[in-house]
Amino acid sequence: MHDDTRWMVAARCRDERPELFFVTDDIGIMAARRVCTTCPVCDACLDYAVTHDITDGVWGGLSEEARRRRGRTVRRRLSAFGRPRRSSSPPRP
Ligand code: SF4
Repeated sequence: MHDDTRWMVAARCRDERPELFFVTDDIGIMAARRVCTTCPVCDACLDYAVTHDITDGVWGGLSEEARRRRGRTVRRRLSAFGRPRRSSSPPRP
């Protein structure tokens, strides 16, 4: 459930300054990501940010730009998956 925010209770960043996660320089992003690497709810956090199109800050260990790139990759793969096969071999069940 993407609107379920119970995972936030276990977030490693709960005791950190919010400003730590809203940075744009590489050093600031690395500092935020260091906290995320030990976070037990990292996947839920990233999923939440992507689902809600949150563009600012580090979420789930990814910077704004990294999340944008990831979103483009996922959309490209989904688009390719939906295209008809070019091969003449019969489709697999
Ligand atoms: S992954 Fe990072 S930003 Fe997300 S809840 Fe954990 S510590 Fe906070």
